[in-house]
Amino acid sequence: MTKFSDLNLNPKVLKAIEEAGYETPTPIQAGAIPPALLGRDVLGIAQTGTGKTASFTLPMITMLARGRARARMPRSLVLCPTRELAAQVAENFDTYSKHLKLTKALLIGGVSFNEQDKLIDKGVDVLIATPGRLLDHFERGKLLLTGVQIMVVDEADRMLDMGFIPDIERIFSLTPFTRQTLFFSATMAPEIERITNTFLSAPERVEVARQATTGENITQGVLMFKASRKDREGTEKRQMLRALIDAEGEKCTNAIIFCNRKTDVDVVAKSLKKYGYDAAPIHGDLDQSQRTRTLDGFREGSLRFLCASDVAARGLDVPAVSHVFNYDVPSHAEDYVHRIGRTGRAGRDGKAIMICVPRDERNLSDIERLVQREIPRLENPLGASNEATGDADEQADTARDEKPRRSRSRGRKKDDARPKAEAEAETTPKSIEAPAEPRDEKPAEPQPRRESSRGGKGRSGGNDRNNDRGPKVMGLGDHTPEFIGLSFKERSDD
Ligand code: AMP
Repeated sequence: MTKFSDLNLNPKVLKAIEEAGYETPTPIQAGAIPPALLGRDVLGIAQTGTGKTASFTLPMITMLARGRARARMPRSLVLCPTRELAAQVAENFDTYSKHLKLTKALLIGGVSFNEQDKLIDKGVDVLIATPGRLLDHFERGKLLLTGVQIMVVDEADRMLDMGFIPDIERIFSLTPFTRQTLFFSATMAPEIERITNTFLSAPERVEVARQATTGENITQGVLMFKASRKDREGTEKRQMLRALIDAEGEKCTNAIIFCNRKTDVDVVAKSLKKYGYDAAPIHGDLDQSQRTRTLDGFREGSLRFLCASDVAARGLDVPAVSHVFNYDVPSHAEDYVHRIGRTGRAGRDGKAIMICVPRDERNLSDIERLVQREIPRLENPLGASNEATGDADEQADTARDEKPRRSRSRGRKKDDARPKAEAEAETTPKSIEAPAEPRDEKPAEPQPRRESSRGGKGRSGGNDRNNDRGPKVMGLGDHTPEFIGLSFKERSDD
């Protein structure tokens, strides 16, 4: 088995590794560090939790230990999709370079331009940045990227999801052609493949197993849930979440609760808090100091429940998270893998529990196809009925929740009550699309179970079923089509 001492790292880096308590390199480290130290480009296909941050920081520090920084010309650059991830990479740099004199600047939203400008003016060895903020600094004329010898792109697939690829391409073009590139992505979407073909030169490809999908240490389960009434879905889902948390009892020492929309992150955190659960939200609309405070509290164990959006929680490294609750089924199957990868880290056991409403069943099928397993269906912790017990407090809560929505959706169809929430989604939720099939409005049955669907068809494939119903209605325009006024004929063959 490879040892750190076999990897040609700087002795002072080895000392810091030892002090961090790491004994052996992880597979991505053993695979990526040697070619990186030889100056080669590396394409690392790995997700968080595999030790990938150290797989680029350790060789970078070793290489940067030779030579010195020049004013306004950083010698290396690490691009991260989110502020949290950038801050985490910066922490890693501090840990592993503590016996060396290297300087760094962190260019992320919420950190003052002036202070970072001063650091850059003096000269930094490492610049760690989110793409937008880096370009802001560049455009202010305070920064030259022509001295960048090593460039790292971390979590490229998330950059793609967040629309950062044009920024990344621009940043690549501002750095010297001769730079060394270390590029990391959990998946290789065609667009990512294109970027690596364009900007990497004969890279060493290092691929490690998807920990979360193959890891047997994460117990997974999904609760199929249907609200008693559509307008009570939020209330009843939140009640179900509390019941699922309660059912875990003391085994649930802490948890990240993922929601698809920022608005729901806030609502769920607020509701949990009201019911006496120690919860706080984190998403991109909160200011940086609040995000940092919340995260620190969660890391230190003073906060038990972190309600999060995908973007805010992406890549977060909190070693001991006992549970992940997916309040919503993520609309991108890959996000499921990232979400549940927050638990069961560093060889611990973890549990991932998801709530699935009928309209999310397609996304659930996509997830099961991706992870190549059926996620076990959970017993309803509230017993046979999904119905909320009419908790007065929560009903008042719902009344408050629903009121502004109603007024916002005035003039819309009654069912279309979530336009604002949808507009605020961080990633494009598929639920914006009109449902391809009429909704099943039968009263809730416990544990509905769909047979594996769609036989490998893409999402749009479902619309084919509507072909025998005449042309699709795109919108009502100024008039109401005649059929709206017709009453339904009972089907005799049912
Ligand atoms: P990452 O994939 O970079 O998010 O790292 C996941 C976690 O693994 C972090 O908490 C690291 O501190 C830890 N880690 C990184 N390398 C090693 C190693 N060789 N041995 C044990 N833990 C490690």
